Amino acid sequence: MSDTDAELPPLLRGAPGTTEFRKLRKRVIRETREAIETYGMAAKGDRWLVCLSGGKDSYTLLAALVELQWRGLLPVELLACNLDQGQPGFPATVLPAFLERCQVPHRIEFRDTYSIVKEKVPAGRTYCALCSRLRRGNLYRIAREEGCQAVVLGHHRDDILETFFLNLFHGGRLATMPPKLINEDGDLSVLRPLAHVAEQDCERFARAMNYPIIPCDLCGSQEGLQRQQVKAMLDEWERRSPGRRAVMFRALCNVRPSHLADPTLFDFAGLMAGAEAGAAEGLPGGALGEGYQAPPRLPSRARGQTLEDPADQAAEQV
Ligand code: SF4
Repeated sequence: MSDTDAELPPLLRGAPGTTEFRKLRKRVIRETREAIETYGMAAKGDRWLVCLSGGKDSYTLLAALVELQWRGLLPVELLACNLDQGQPGFPATVLPAFLERCQVPHRIEFRDTYSIVKEKVPAGRTYCALCSRLRRGNLYRIAREEGCQAVVLGHHRDDILETFFLNLFHGGRLATMPPKLINEDGDLSVLRPLAHVAEQDCERFARAMNYPIIPCDLCGSQEGLQRQQVKAMLDEWERRSPGRRAVMFRALCNVRPSHLADPTLFDFAGLMAGAEAGAAEGLPGGALGEGYQAPPRLPSRARGQTLEDPADQAAEQV
């Protein structure tokens, strides 16, 4: 990444020349590319609606995708999109001016979902679930109008982890926001290319690039107490054991249905002693053992299977 500033797309110009920033940028780009490849997100010729809220994560998302596209590593067309939801004090001119200046193709849409949320949500409750649903519906509509195949969101590794723990503690299920899913109507992908990127890296990247970050508290909603508690818990674990978040995320990518307890994912009833000695038994050190072959999974059932995000409580920053 030794390109001179003038060669770069305008969005990527003006980056700090420090070694620290160069490492950060490389990491963000590498992890974004890794997620796009791992989850098969990009089909040649697709058009992506890249959601830009003006928060740090969405700027990092856009910059990473623009850089990959510019390097010829992402064969899709990008359309940045900001949905102005009518929150009081939202600086409506900031994003259009920024996107113009950076020559990023974009669409700005105004929909006053804020008034609907204020009217419908009882006093004292957080707005996020309804707000996210209304936003998502509008983004799907815009994607269809623009001939896009995917809605691309700026959720990062830590959003995914927090949602996992919210579901574990309060939802009674092991589930989170997946890096890729298909919407309920089956006509759009929802992608999260920052799935492998740490929140701290998004923040450092967007701040170092001096992007005009719009505060996320304009809506007047406090983030849900449960999410705050999970964040605090993960922060504390990370403080005590640096790297803990990375390990936990690796676990989400390394699931052993035979060592959980969901009979719809694994044919426990069909396990026979002696058929495959030790096949389902954990060996010392936590390894499943050389030659371990997972018995066949049961076909997934309609039961509770959802193509949409399982976590309504997630305050989605798109
Ligand atoms: S925090 Fe975000 S999702 Fe929640 S109400 Fe405000 S704008 Fe909507």
